Amino acid sequence: MALIVQKYGGTSVGDPQRILHVAEKVAAQRARGDRVVVVVSAMSGETDRLLALARSIAPRPDPRELDVLLATGEQVTIALLSLALDRIGCPARSYTGAQVQILTDSAFNKARIRGVDVERLRGDLEAGRVVVVAGFQGVDGDGRITTLGRGGSDTTAVAVAAALKADECQIYTDVDGVYTTDPRVVPQARRLQRITFEEMLEMASLGSKVLQIRSVEFAGKYNVPLRVLSTFQDGEGTLITYEDPDMEEVQISGIAFSRDEAKLTIVGVPDEPGVAYRILGPIGEANIEVDMIVQNVGADGTTDFTFTVHRNEYERALELLQRVAADLRARDVSGDPHIVKISLVGVGMRSHAGIASRMFQTLAREGINIRMISTSEIKISVVVDEKYLELGVRALHEAFELDREPAAGAG
Ligand code: ASP
Ligand code: MG
Repeated sequence: MALIVQKYGGTSVGDPQRILHVAEKVAAQRARGDRVVVVVSAMSGETDRLLALARSIAPRPDPRELDVLLATGEQVTIALLSLALDRIGCPARSYTGAQVQILTDSAFNKARIRGVDVERLRGDLEAGRVVVVAGFQGVDGDGRITTLGRGGSDTTAVAVAAALKADECQIYTDVDGVYTTDPRVVPQARRLQRITFEEMLEMASLGSKVLQIRSVEFAGKYNVPLRVLSTFQDGEGTLITYEDPDMEEVQISGIAFSRDEAKLTIVGVPDEPGVAYRILGPIGEANIEVDMIVQNVGADGTTDFTFTVHRNEYERALELLQRVAADLRARDVSGDPHIVKISLVGVGMRSHAGIASRMFQTLAREGINIRMISTSEIKISVVVDEKYLELGVRALHEAFELDREPAAGAG
C-alpha cells in the first residue's frame, strides 16, 4: 500500500466533465489499495478572472484582500471534486489550506510554506477517505489567508507529500511528461523517463514551464520523488528524482531555451576595482535580475562589460546603464533586446569533456554566431540572435542525438 499525492492543474479540472474524469482517476488509484491525497488548482482561467475582477475595483489591490479573493478559486474545485468522488462512491473530504493548517509566512501573494500539519489528513486516510486539499493557499501565524504565487499548487502538493512522507508526488497536467526540448520547436523531441532535480531546475528556469520552480527545489530538498504525467492520456510520465549512477551514461538530458532575453553592453570603462559593482549595483537595487555577465579587457586597458536581463526589464536597465556610463565616462552604451539563450543541460556533462566544443561546432556549421557563452557544472548556455533560435535548437537536438532513447540502463 502506497501513499500517493496527486496534483491536478487548472486545465485538468477546467469543467464539470473534467472534474468527473479526475474523480475516476483518483478512485482508480484508491481501488488499487493506495491511500490518496489530491491537491487541486482553480479551474483554468479562474485565477486570472479573479485578478482582473480585483483590479477592476482597485488598480493596485491590497495584497491581504487579494489573497482572500484568489483563494476562492481553489475552494471551488476542492468542493466540486469531493462531490464528484462521493457521486462515484469514493468517500472524500475537502480541506482549504487554513483547515489543513498549511502554515506560511505573511508575504501575501507570494507566501512561503513554513510547515504542514498532517494530523487531520492522516485520520481521514486511515479511515479510508480520499483527502482533497486546496492548492496555492495557506494561512499565516495570525490566521490570515495567504497565496503562494502563480503556479503555487505544485508547491502545495510537494509540501504535503513531504510532510506525509508520501511515496510519490504525481503532478497531472496537460502534457505527458518532461521532454528533451519543446516539441513545438523540435517535433522529434522525446519524453524523458527520468531526470534529476538539478536538471529539472535548469530546464524549468530556462523556459520549459511544466512545474513551478519552487516545487522542484522543495522536492529536491526533502527528497520527494516527483512524477509529471498527463491527465488525458495514460503513460508513465517523467520521474524527477535523485541522480542514480546509471544516469552518468547520459551526457545531455535536454535543451532548454529562453526567448525573453536582452543584452546590454557598456564599452570603455576604466579597468579598476569597484567598476563591476558600480555598473551592476544600481541594476540590483532596482530589483532587475542579471543572468549572464561577461567582462573583457581591451588592448587600451579599458574594460567592456556585457550582461543579460529579462526582456521586460530591458528599457529600465538601459536607462540605468546610461546614467552609470556618464558617471564612469564610458565610451559607449549599447543594447540588443532581440537575443535568446539556448542551453544544453545534463548531469552527465560533469564527466565528459568535449561537449562544449561539439556544441560550438554544431552552431558554426549552421552559420550561427555565438554572442555570449556561460557554463556551469551541468549546463552550457549560449546567447544567439533571436532569428536563430529554432535552427540552433534543432541542430543541437540532432547533433546530440536526443531523439534516440539512451542505451539500456542509462536513464
Ligand atoms: N490557481 C493558481 C494559478 O493559476 C495556482 C495554480 O494553478 O497552481 O496560478
Ligand atoms: Mg500550474
